Amino acid sequence: MKQTRRALVVGGGIAGMASALTLRRIGWDVDLIDLDPGWRVYGAGITITGPTLRAMKQLGIYDEVAAQAYVGHGIQVCDMQGHRIETVETPIAPEAGVAGCGGIMRPLLHRILSERVLRSGTKVRLGLTVGALDASGEGARIEFSDGSTGDYALVVGADGLFSTVRSLLFPQAEKPRYMGQYVWRTVAARPAGFHQRHFFLGGPHKVGLTPVSADTMYMFLLETCDERPRLDDALLAPELARLLQGYGGPLQRIREELSPQSPIIVRPLEAFRLAPPWARGCVQLIGDAVHPTTPQLASGAGLAIEDALVLGEELQAAPDVPAALDRFLQRRHARCQLVVESSFSIGDKERQGAPAHEQTAILTRSLAALADDI
Ligand SMILES: Cc1cc2nc3c(=O)[nH]c(=O)nc-3n(C[C@H](O)[C@H](O)[C@H](O)COP(=O)(O)OP(=O)(O)OC[C@H]3O[C@@H](n4cnc5c(N)ncnc54)[C@H](O)[C@@H]3O)c2cc1C
Repeated sequence: MKQTRRALVVGGGIAGMASALTLRRIGWDVDLIDLDPGWRVYGAGITITGPTLRAMKQLGIYDEVAAQAYVGHGIQVCDMQGHRIETVETPIAPEAGVAGCGGIMRPLLHRILSERVLRSGTKVRLGLTVGALDASGEGARIEFSDGSTGDYALVVGADGLFSTVRSLLFPQAEKPRYMGQYVWRTVAARPAGFHQRHFFLGGPHKVGLTPVSADTMYMFLLETCDERPRLDDALLAPELARLLQGYGGPLQRIREELSPQSPIIVRPLEAFRLAPPWARGCVQLIGDAVHPTTPQLASGAGLAIEDALVLGEELQAAPDVPAALDRFLQRRHARCQLVVESSFSIGDKERQGAPAHEQTAILTRSLAALADDI
């Protein structure tokens, strides 16, 4: 497909922005809409794997990420007191020209991507969603929530876990469900000499630290518990301090320094499984809209960018949009399923309090498989 075509990207998260950049690069006209009038992202850190960094390099943002965030190699697995148990390698082929892993604050990644999207010629409209979608013909006719309409040769549903596009395409699909864990996140000063990702296993919770810049790191803590109402903001610091009780090493200092001003974000882990098809007509679901994962492999953002890259490659190679979307599914399904199922399995182990080596065995196996070319 060489001629200029018109695409709608629904959702301006990592998957949507990566799609807009990829589609513009291969000559498509792109409209991107996002429900949030402020196009915001919450202020947590994320961990990035080597394959995610490789995808970022292909997208053209690796150098900026490496300069402003953190990149490194390996994961130190420690006991509750911070004593090293083992090192998990973070493999990636040297030809990829990227580090084995990294960390970045979501707002920085959002800024890097959104500035590029705005410069790319993508038409961005905010505070808008899809009201109705007719994909019965060759293209798709969209009725937007403000009453306007548009005709597109391709619609990319990148509107996240609670995707409206998915509900319109597959109303019977399983809804997101609680996965039995809450994740607590905060940001702390990165001590001198703290150069790697860390896991603290063997205690009541899995806790992790990832550097996200030269002087900051973020902490996550996975709490196994029943679903419960949202905690009042004033209770977050004392509750996180309670959960961190008994943890030593750098976690002890983080616990001691928690205060009402600490930036703490807590949310339940939710996901669902969606068996193919992942597309109907010329409408393709990508990212968390179709294969959301719990964060044990830290690969959701990477899958989202890879989806965009593969979609772009297949649109260029295939004779028409449906053929490209067929090829997209063939290339993406097994890899996305690997991440989702391995993440769920590690989550099961965490909830059961399984020994550290059982958890890291799945991690090591999965990271090795994900280092393969996409
Ligand atoms: C607690 C937690 C920790 C995580 N940690 C990591 C990590 O360390 N590393 C990692 O790689 N991944 C991590 N992930 C996964 C990662 O955040 C996601 O996989 C990734 O953000 C998916 O991007 P997305 O663009 O598909 O969806 P989203 O980031 O959810 O973006 C969806 C976008 O669509 C917009 N939108 C929503 N509904 C509509 C609508 N109806 N119409 C228009 N727009 C809409 C939203 O405003 C948003 O901008 C984590 C996830 C969670 C929940």
